[in-house]
Amino acid sequence: RGKLADIDKDVDELIQIEAERQVRKLILIPSESSAPQAIHEALGSVLQNLYAEGYPDEETRFMSEAEILDYTARLAHYRRYADPRYYKGVEYADVIESLARRRCAEAFATPTVSASQLYVNVQALSGAPANNAVYHALINPGDTILGMNLLHGGHLTHGSSVNRSGKLYNVVHYNVAPGTEQIDYDAVEALAKEHKPKIIVAGYSSYPWAPDWERFRLIADSCGAILMADISHIAGMVAAGVLPSPVGYAHVITFTTHKTLCGPRGACIITNDAAIGRKIDKAVFPGEQGGPHVHVFAALATTFKLARTPEFRKLQQQILDNCAALTKRLQERGLRIAYGGTNTHLGNVDCKTIVGADGTPLSGDMAARILDVAGIVLNRNTIPGDKTALFSSGIRYGTPWMTQRGLNEKDMIQVADIIADVLLACKPYSVETRQGPAARAKIDFRVLEDAKKRVR
Ligand code: PLP
Repeated sequence: RGKLADIDKDVDELIQIEAERQVRKLILIPSESSAPQAIHEALGSVLQNLYAEGYPDEETRFMSEAEILDYTARLAHYRRYADPRYYKGVEYADVIESLARRRCAEAFATPTVSASQLYVNVQALSGAPANNAVYHALINPGDTILGMNLLHGGHLTHGSSVNRSGKLYNVVHYNVAPGTEQIDYDAVEALAKEHKPKIIVAGYSSYPWAPDWERFRLIADSCGAILMADISHIAGMVAAGVLPSPVGYAHVITFTTHKTLCGPRGACIITNDAAIGRKIDKAVFPGEQGGPHVHVFAALATTFKLARTPEFRKLQQQILDNCAALTKRLQERGLRIAYGGTNTHLGNVDCKTIVGADGTPLSGDMAARILDVAGIVLNRNTIPGDKTALFSSGIRYGTPWMTQRGLNEKDMIQVADIIADVLLACKPYSVETRQGPAARAKIDFRVLEDAKKRVR
């Protein structure tokens, strides 16, 4: 018993300091957002105490929210029939997981695919295990996956050699086209026909353009592949209907729930093919994981309730509008935006176009470090042209968190100006280190001081 502050004041203090950092800084990391208080309450609830291996009754997939929430009927049913869980004491956990599944299905249903046709798994602990569970469910080691190159915006789990996906499967990568820095769908189709992958992965971590789902499905059909849409980054905008949905095109869809969905850390896997859905359930549990996180189910149920509100739709549209405004201003200020722009919530600045007197280019790492000092938090990222993930010449920015805090297009102009002022003041130069030459950036600290004042 006792509050955290009484039991462990060190951890309590660290949490307070982090909370203050989140308020003080302008956070432009596109994979982050600020979960509402209600989500924190669900996550901090007694549901965290449970083990609930297994899944709720199949029939709850076809129940409406009202039917699921009719506890009396549910509990009577639960007592009458052998329940499919391995543990007792999960009668309320069952209702909560069923509710999370149903609300997820409602949030992603489309005019052509109804909620009852969507088979949902909410147990994957995060995005990476969700993706690996899909591979485990649907293909065998040695089979071919066609996914976007990590260096061009794909995710580690799309077949990177350092990830399990790249070790277990034969991976073929597609890239962006050299001139446009955008996906060349004809080239993807040619690769698909040549290598006959079992799975094609679309959906990205730093590639900033929304995929053409219809075209991807045609490509998958042309070689008999399963189309897997990883919409981890754009799930909030897809649920809000402000970006095109892969539902009805992709055979299986994965997404994290803590990015633009603004929910708890977690992931969902959805499909409108029940046979695929059943295989995925088995691959997640017992294939990949043990006990699911029941407190996350509760937070997910609330996340999907919020995702269906007009406020959420407005937020997601504003995230897009803000990113467009930020990108436009960065370009006007002379910064090169990789991939030719963006139509999502994220973009990438090409830092190597900022060059010092001795020809040293600004690195993404140095740019991100300098901006952090100025109060703007984002991350270094590879962009087309980079040869290894260990050296990135880009910085990736995104607008979810700042939009949640109420910033609009006008504010984005100011934010872009701060970024441009700071980056364009950098004077990178090379120094010899014991390991060899290294690029360093020097900055005009008067500009930085000015930028810091503006951030405050
Ligand atoms: N898929 C994509 C496209 C991602 O961007 C990410 C994470 O950034 C993941 C999967 C993995 O999610 P997690 O970090 O929750 O494992």
